[in-house]
Amino acid sequence: MDKLAILGGPKAVQTSADDMFTWPIITEEDEQAALEVLRRGGMSGTDVTNQFEKEYAEWFGSKYALGHNTGTSSIHSAMFACKVGVGDEIICQSMTFWASVLQAMNLGATIVYADIDPVTMTLDPADVERKITDKTKAIVAVHYFGHPADMDAIMEIANARGIKVIEDVSHAHGALYKGRMTGTIGHVGAMSCMSGKSLAIGEAGMLITDDKEIYERAAAFGHYERTSSLESPELSKFAGLPLGGFKYRMHQLSSAVGRVQLRHYKDRMNEIDRSMNYFWNLLEGAPGLRAHRPPKESGSTMGGWYAAHGIYEPEELGGLSLQKFCEAVRAEGTSCGAGANLLMHLHPVLNDADVYGHGKPTRIANSESDVRQAEESLPATERMSERLYSIPWFKHYRPEVIKEHAEAFRKVVAQASELNG
Ligand SMILES: *Cc1c(COP(=O)(O)O)cnc(C)c1O
Repeated sequence: MDKLAILGGPKAVQTSADDMFTWPIITEEDEQAALEVLRRGGMSGTDVTNQFEKEYAEWFGSKYALGHNTGTSSIHSAMFACKVGVGDEIICQSMTFWASVLQAMNLGATIVYADIDPVTMTLDPADVERKITDKTKAIVAVHYFGHPADMDAIMEIANARGIKVIEDVSHAHGALYKGRMTGTIGHVGAMSCMSGKSLAIGEAGMLITDDKEIYERAAAFGHYERTSSLESPELSKFAGLPLGGFKYRMHQLSSAVGRVQLRHYKDRMNEIDRSMNYFWNLLEGAPGLRAHRPPKESGSTMGGWYAAHGIYEPEELGGLSLQKFCEAVRAEGTSCGAGANLLMHLHPVLNDADVYGHGKPTRIANSESDVRQAEESLPATERMSERLYSIPWFKHYRPEVIKEHAEAFRKVVAQASELNG
């Protein structure tokens, strides 16, 4: 085997990436759709968005879809729609993008973080159960890095207590949980479609649900132009002004491009899925490296494999640090970055910030007990955040190229002892 590139040997990856990692894939079709909106001055308004919503709802098999300007706003609307309000608690995992849950604080609610399962990196249902109080109003289940959360267990816990479940599908567009579309299992699904995600259409978000009350409350919160057409007299009497004081509608350049991206998404997603599974199959059995993906027989899938990561076991590589490992892998010509999202429970915004002038930290401004969580309060979360590394995100099934990238990882694993000490 060749010497490691970081020690002066040849790189494992010799073939140029070409368009292997280019995302989103933009063709003339996207350009024409955007130009059509641009040239007639239709950037605001809702005609294109309404068509996009209809197609989106069909894709998910949901009754309702409501376009938003960001994923952040779609989740905010979902929380309001689930009646999260002053003094309520909402449970989520700490290792996720902040917009899975931080919005709860401006509804007067607080956040309680539950630990994750160290295999799926998603909510550990047993810890969710431990964190439930009589204040718990909703659970946000994140399909983190594309891996479906344990929805059966979460729904059972929530339904037994009348708690609402919001699925954050921002990493998992099209991912299946035991054969069912993620986003359709909880009471409401919400997701980002910003340009970095696997369904990438600009700055945009989407809320989906089968529940008419949830849909109508979400619309009344940040879509003032729709309130008059809502069926609920309780809501339509507020026609003309948004209840939340927010304007959350989707930009129509995004919905126009979104319609095109959606038409191609399934095919493109399937090619990504095939490529990423091929990569992990090549690394099967490599010491120190564990794939983050559901078992093949589970009927669960990773959708478009947004921000795919692997799990690192330094004990199997003589204690080689993750940072050193990643550096050596990158030197071989592929991508590998140590770490995942910031842990929210340890961040000063969740511990110290008095955002609204309550005279105490916003996190506990409306709660009876101090729900803040110190270091070591979420052992699996804190442990796993030091054991995750990003892997290359292949958009095309080109086995010869993928093999070179897998070889970059294999080579460092095989010669880890050269890097120790
Ligand atoms: C990106 C993201 C969001 C927020 O979406 P934006 O479109 O960036 O506002 C929410 N949750 C998760 C898990 C995300 O990764």
